[in-house]
Amino acid sequence: MRAAVLEAYGEPLGVRDRDPPTPDPDGAVVAVEACGICRSDWHAWQGHGDWADDDVPLGQVLGHEPAGRVVATGDRVSTVSPGDRAVVPFNLGDGTCGYCRNGHGNVCTDGWALGFESDVPGAFAEQVAVPRADYNLVTLPDGVGFDAAAALGCRYVTAFHALAHRADIAAGDRVAVHGCGGLGLAAVQIASALGASVIAVDIRDEPLSMARDVGANSVVDASAVEDVPAAIEAETDGGAEVSVDALGRAETCRNSVRSLRPRGTHVQVGLTTDTERGEVALPTDWITRWDIDVLGSRGMPPSRYDELLRLVADGTLNPGALVTRRVSLDAVSERLAAMTDYGTEGIELVTEFGR
Ligand SMILES: [Zn+2]
Ligand SMILES: [Zn+2]
Repeated sequence: MRAAVLEAYGEPLGVRDRDPPTPDPDGAVVAVEACGICRSDWHAWQGHGDWADDDVPLGQVLGHEPAGRVVATGDRVSTVSPGDRAVVPFNLGDGTCGYCRNGHGNVCTDGWALGFESDVPGAFAEQVAVPRADYNLVTLPDGVGFDAAAALGCRYVTAFHALAHRADIAAGDRVAVHGCGGLGLAAVQIASALGASVIAVDIRDEPLSMARDVGANSVVDASAVEDVPAAIEAETDGGAEVSVDALGRAETCRNSVRSLRPRGTHVQVGLTTDTERGEVALPTDWITRWDIDVLGSRGMPPSRYDELLRLVADGTLNPGALVTRRVSLDAVSERLAAMTDYGTEGIELVTEFGR
């Protein structure tokens, strides 16, 4: 089968022939129909993460946002069968530890990050193996196609877990979203669907226009205002209840925290670049003074995907609306390169894997 392999950081991926995977006794193999291209792939491609001993090894098949059809299952798998349509979470749990059994498989300490570790080759490939398939594979309801399912992850699942589970937003909350890439736009759409009043921040016209299209009540062009938190404070009559840094730069992180009203909640979902190297200075005295909550959020437990899929199946959320481009496996490197200068908009998918 064909697979796109990380052979040197920052250099084009090698599209190579690899042996197709076979399932472990408790695993499955999925024929990939669509796989999202994500800024996390770009971070891996850049060799980021070495500051946390978390850089992706050379030789890795990237791609962590697949949807497709199950083609093989191991002897011990009982809940999915060949032919099932499925989406694969990138945060794979072992299914047996305390975190997994309590519904927090996204932070399983014995799990895997699909497409980022050599044990779990990714889905920029014709087929992808999924460990612990009974726990990790999520079958798709009727009405959720492969493109929509691939567009979901990791941005929609990350945004949904951050807003619905971690920040626990309520209808009427004022929610600020800093950075309107795929993750930020998903956060805008989800916050709006959950009844929040959403203010979206970016420095580019097109993403701000897309943010309006998917539910932002107002937008702030950060390139045109002196002080982003002040602009949000004015727009929200005192600050947001919840603010999300969906980009991961020092400036967006600090702006997000300072956008909050007293007792507000900041959620960090964007990962930092090699400028910040995993650390951003925050106004800690101010956080103390105003009872501010600072939360992290990663992916979503596989056991909670059904909540999000119901909202897609009934049309409340429309991830397909953010898909701006469909490309072949051979074009992935070019699309990753375009991310370096923030030259992509919305969600891009690989949908052609063969020759
Ligand atoms: Zn676990
Ligand atoms: Zn992703």
